[in-house]
Order: sequence, then C-alpha cells, then structure tokens
Amino acid sequence: MAYEYDHLIVGAGMTADAAAKAIRELDRTARVGLVGDERHAPYERPPLSKGLWKDDRPIESIDLGTSASGAVLHLGRRVVGIDRVARRVVDDQGGVYAYRRLLLATGATPRRLPIEDERVIHFRTLDDYLALRRRAVPGASAAVVGGGFIGSEIAASLAGAGCRVTMLFPGDGIGAGRFPYGLSDFLDGYYRERGVTLRAGTRVVGGRGAREGVELAFSDGTEARFDVVVAGLGVVPNTDLAAQAGLAVDDGIVVDARLRTADPDVFAAGDVARFPCAPLGMRLRVEHENAAIGMGRHAGRVMAGTDEDYTTLPFFYSDLFDLGYEAVGLLDDRLDVVEQWVQPYREGVVYYLDDGRVRGVLLWNVWGQVEAARDLVAEAGPHDADSVRGRLPRLA
Ligand SMILES: Cc1cc2nc3c(=O)[nH]c(=O)nc-3n(C[C@H](O)[C@H](O)[C@H](O)COP(=O)(O)OP(=O)(O)OC[C@H]3O[C@@H](n4cnc5c(N)ncnc54)[C@H](O)[C@@H]3O)c2cc1C
Repeated sequence: MAYEYDHLIVGAGMTADAAAKAIRELDRTARVGLVGDERHAPYERPPLSKGLWKDDRPIESIDLGTSASGAVLHLGRRVVGIDRVARRVVDDQGGVYAYRRLLLATGATPRRLPIEDERVIHFRTLDDYLALRRRAVPGASAAVVGGGFIGSEIAASLAGAGCRVTMLFPGDGIGAGRFPYGLSDFLDGYYRERGVTLRAGTRVVGGRGAREGVELAFSDGTEARFDVVVAGLGVVPNTDLAAQAGLAVDDGIVVDARLRTADPDVFAAGDVARFPCAPLGMRLRVEHENAAIGMGRHAGRVMAGTDEDYTTLPFFYSDLFDLGYEAVGLLDDRLDVVEQWVQPYREGVVYYLDDGRVRGVLLWNVWGQVEAARDLVAEAGPHDADSVRGRLPRLA
C-alpha cells in the first residue's frame, strides 16, 4: 500500500502523540500519519510501573486518544528505511509512505540480559506490563535487575502486589550515583522494611530458563531461581533508521534548537533526540515524560510552521512506595551536593552544583517547586551551599 502525508511520524509513543496533536492545533487540514511497531495506539508509559499497580486504574485510561486528532495510525508496522531524496519511508510489510515533513520519534529500547525466556521481561511496553501482571501473583518470586528508575518503581509495585521481591544492582544502593549517599541508604532501608531483599553490588552474569523458573547466575558466584525476572538496565536510543539515512547520531539523533536534523524536513524528538539544552548550556538526551510531551509538541508546532526554539529544561518524577519526587537538570553525586532537609529523607531539597552554578535540583516529597527550580538552574550564579539553601519558596 502507498500513503501520502504532509506530516509523517515514525514511532507511536508519547512524543508522537504530542506532535500529532500540536500539528492539528495549528493546521486543521494537514494529513498526519503515524507508523508504530507496537500493536497499541499511543499510551502513557509512566503508569505501567506504578499507577496501574496502585490505584486499580483501568488499562483503557492510559490511552492518549491520538486518533481524535485526525491522525491516521498504522500500528504493528516497523519502518525499515528512509529515502530522504524521494521523501519516502518504507515499512516491514511493504507499506510506502510519502512525506513532506518527517518526525523520528522512535524512542529507546531496553538493554537486555543474556537470557532468552518469556519469564525474563525487559520492561518498557504495555505488552511487557500485561505479561508481568499475569505472573505477578501473590507469593511469586521476582528478581528485579537494576536499581534505577524502572527497577525501583517495579520492585515497589511487585512488593505491593504480594510478590517476594529481590532487587539486584551493581551500585551501592538504590539510586546510587544520582542521590546523595544518605538518601540512597535510607531508601535501601525503606525497601527492606517493605519486604524487598536487596543485593547491592551484584550483577547478573548469566542464567537460563528451567521448568521450575528462571535460574540466574550472579557476579559473586551464587545462583538463585525466580518465577519471573524484570530487567531495568537502562535503554539505548533507537537511532538505526536515522544513521542509515545519513543523519548525525551521537547517543541519540542530533537536532538543533528547532528539533530539526541537518535535513530541514526531518525532525527528531523525545527519548531518541539529543538536543541543545539552553538552560544547561549543553547537549542532552532526556528519557522522561515531560521531555517527550514537550519536545513532541514543539516539533509538531515547528513542522506545522512556527519558528521557535525549544528552550525548556525538562523535569522528571518518580514514585517509590509512598515516597515521590520531582527533579530538574543533572542529578549526579559527583557534583557538589547540598542537602536541605525539612525532615531527613522524608521532605527536602538536594541541590547539585558545579563551578558555582546550580546544575540540578531534586525536590524530594516537595511539590509545586519545579518552576522555581528551573529558574535557579537558569541563573548565572555564582552559587554556593549558603546561597542556594532557602532559595525555593517552600523551604525559605
Ligand atoms: C515503565 C516506564 C515508566 C516511566 N515512568 C516515568 C516517570 O515516572 N516519569 C518520567 O518522567 N518518565 C517516565 N518514563 C519515561 C517516559 O515514559 C518516556 O520518556 C517516554 O515514554 C518516551 O516517549 P517516546 O515517544 O519518545 O519514546 P517511546 O516511548 O520509546 O516510543 C517510541 C515508539 O516508537 C516505536 N518504534 C521504534 N522504532 C520504530 C520503527 N522503526 N518503526 C515503527 N515504530 C518504531 C517503539 O516501539 C515505541 O513504541 C517511564 C518509562 C517507562 C518505560
């Protein structure tokens, strides 16, 4: 089949949805098409690891309603090539799509464990959630590999579902490297109190599926068997298509402040894009919802004819049992870390400074301060521990 679109979007995730809606707001007649390799229409990903487990939120509620924008959804199809001269892409089923402007919103793919077994779930998609939910029965033993965002959220959700959870990660503690030592140590205790077994400093070095479960081999020479294994080992941006099409790739598709590649009719946004982040004065690739929605929306607007830079410093958030946070900028404990606790590890702010400037702010159970945190990061400074403490209105 052959199709013709004014605006073609490859990938059908949150970025694609935001772009399609933004195009429609500015152009009521444009022909907009989305090609996505998942079988589902665009949906919210963040509830997969938390909200859907906690609130008995129905699955249908995560659907983003993209087709109401008038965009045509081509689902279950993978784009396998881009011909920028002919302005055409082709999918894995022989579909050919002509475009005037193209957005690459191909997102990212989880890193994999070296074990092929359907009980090993590299958690990313709605189908992964459905597969895990089927196995996450009370009493089931679950290994969660990874102590970052996905691992810590999924471990909490599985524990809440009554599973016997073991969390394994190479670092010293949950969120180590991102959170200050004391906070990471507190989190470890918080998880243990809620029944999660932690194995810090441990890597999975091998394993195999057996009839009774998945057997994992660890870096310390031990082995253990689990009913289900969830991997949260980080993701790799889906840049192959862009690279094949001769576009610049550097751990992400390289775009300018308009979210355009070197080809003025090809854009990239969301988890896959490496963009110039003006408030931090550096290129970034962000794997968070606020960036996906904001950049998708921005790319859609520029594709539809506006001429403006993307200047937002994205924020991100996470929920861990009944704790939660929002954050902006760089969270890296190698920076100068300034902690300001209203109540230790229950409510407070962590500032990350480098060379007299605030580079990141963690708002721990502190809400409504994202804009103030963004302003602080945008300030030229100079800042030090004394000048940042009390800068956020809630904590002044
Ligand atoms: C479980 C989970 C929980 C999260 N929780 C939070 C949170 O609490 N807070 C937060 O800020 N962020 C969170 N995130 C991150 C946030 O959801 C992502 O940043 C966002 O979904 C990225 O959207 P995207 O559209 O850019 O990429 P993706 O979501 O990866 O979507 C890209 C889509 O394109 C498809 N695709 C790729 N290549 C092709 C191709 N060649 N042809 C066709 N289709 C293709 C992919 O299969 C995918 O469906 C979470 C993510 C996950 C997975």
